[in-house]
Amino acid sequence: MKKSALDPAREMTRRIVSDTGKVYVIIGAGLAGFSAARVLRLEGFEGRVMLFGQETDAPYERPPLSKDRLRGELSEERVFLELPNYYKDHAIELQLGERVARIDPSLRVLEMAGGSKVSYDKLLMATGAGLRDIDVPGHDLDGILYLRTLRDCERLRGLLQQHPHVLIVGTGFIGCEVAASARQIGCKVTLAGPELPLAHVLGRGLSEIYASYHRGKGVILKTGVTSTAFIGAGHVERAVFSDGSTVDCDLVVVGIGVDPNTELVAEHVKIENGIMTDEFCRTNVEGIFAAGDVANSWHPRLGISARLEHFDNAQRQGETAAKTMIGKLEAFDTIPFFYSDQYEFRLIYRGMALSSDSVVIRGMPETGSFSAFYLADRKILAVCSVNRYAESVAAARLLHHEIAPAKLIDESVDIGRLFDT
Ligand SMILES: Cc1cc2nc3c(=O)[nH]c(=O)nc-3n(C[C@H](O)[C@H](O)[C@H](O)COP(=O)(O)OP(=O)(O)OC[C@H]3O[C@@H](n4cnc5c(N)ncnc54)[C@H](O)[C@@H]3O)c2cc1C
Repeated sequence: MKKSALDPAREMTRRIVSDTGKVYVIIGAGLAGFSAARVLRLEGFEGRVMLFGQETDAPYERPPLSKDRLRGELSEERVFLELPNYYKDHAIELQLGERVARIDPSLRVLEMAGGSKVSYDKLLMATGAGLRDIDVPGHDLDGILYLRTLRDCERLRGLLQQHPHVLIVGTGFIGCEVAASARQIGCKVTLAGPELPLAHVLGRGLSEIYASYHRGKGVILKTGVTSTAFIGAGHVERAVFSDGSTVDCDLVVVGIGVDPNTELVAEHVKIENGIMTDEFCRTNVEGIFAAGDVANSWHPRLGISARLEHFDNAQRQGETAAKTMIGKLEAFDTIPFFYSDQYEFRLIYRGMALSSDSVVIRGMPETGSFSAFYLADRKILAVCSVNRYAESVAAARLLHHEIAPAKLIDESVDIGRLFDT
């Protein structure tokens, strides 16, 4: 057998040489796009890496925007993923304030909003997700805000410091985290939506626990309603709800979800609640890849395609996509993971519990320290831990295994040793 067929170092050299002169374009300078650019360089790709972002800020982390940055506890510079000189030092052509307007996959050319054109060899769609608007009368009044970008956060932070009565519309993660931060700043807060806090992700039992946490911190919870109108003379003064009730407020923050930014490739690639990809972040079109909030990817471990809106997912999928682009196929097959901080409650969720039939609680939620195991046919699908980081790490080993609920509940048994007992 020839040596070259077995020698990875030699293979790598040949690949890098052949990559020189290639142009890999990444659309979206968020976490997924940044991670991909970083890994392209870490893996030794020597062609051009172009990273286009329509925001004017360099890539940054979004999670602090509803947490410590919103409360002013974290400086603005600490939200950025890298120091400003990182991009130049690694020959990553970061182009900010640049919106890609069109793509022609047959010619492998993209067109910027300003009209200029760029040819590419491979293209990564890391365009993330865009805010869902609330389309009710009065939606365009002043004082109705959304939170997705660092600029949104800075504006909202300034307003919260004036201690307004904030109405938060939407009881998902963003709504709940903003409610917590606004209370911590000292604002009067009403949190309103059709469901209890986080019900769509955590289920009924845990949403009741989170409802009690928020109420305990002084949040006025208004559930079972949708917003039907906003009223005010130029600036929002009152919200009207589906049950006919009203709430007076100085500021509204809308957090009713996001939709994947797929428009650019909608005519070209398969879309179904996001850009469909395989476990290597490949779309059905040669040379086009997708990662992060925009991607609906096949997860071999779960046996389903899923579009996840989590930090960990965006980071790791960006890395997977970069490796696939240079021909290093490593399936993206990690356990889904996300976290949420509200007040002193640090939640960590591992797994996916779409089809769970029961929930077993270990610990006492009222003390703010517990783990919830989501089961289906006695197997553990997911674990959600609050203020139990080590337990959540140990519990990840139990996913997809059958463990008797009595053992899960028994706090005298170390979760990490459950397989041994
Ligand atoms: C306030 C907030 C708090 C969060 N907190 C948590 C948390 O606690 N835990 C957790 O797990 N996850 C959290 N998330 C979710 C997590 O931050 C996202 O899943 C992650 O940022 C997604 O990264 P992404 O790169 O896929 O997309 P994005 O971050 O949305 O980045 C995509 C970028 O692409 C740009 N773009 C889109 N179209 C174009 C175009 N045509 N041309 C050029 N640029 C374009 C967009 O402007 C955007 O900057 C939070 C999100 C928000 C908004």
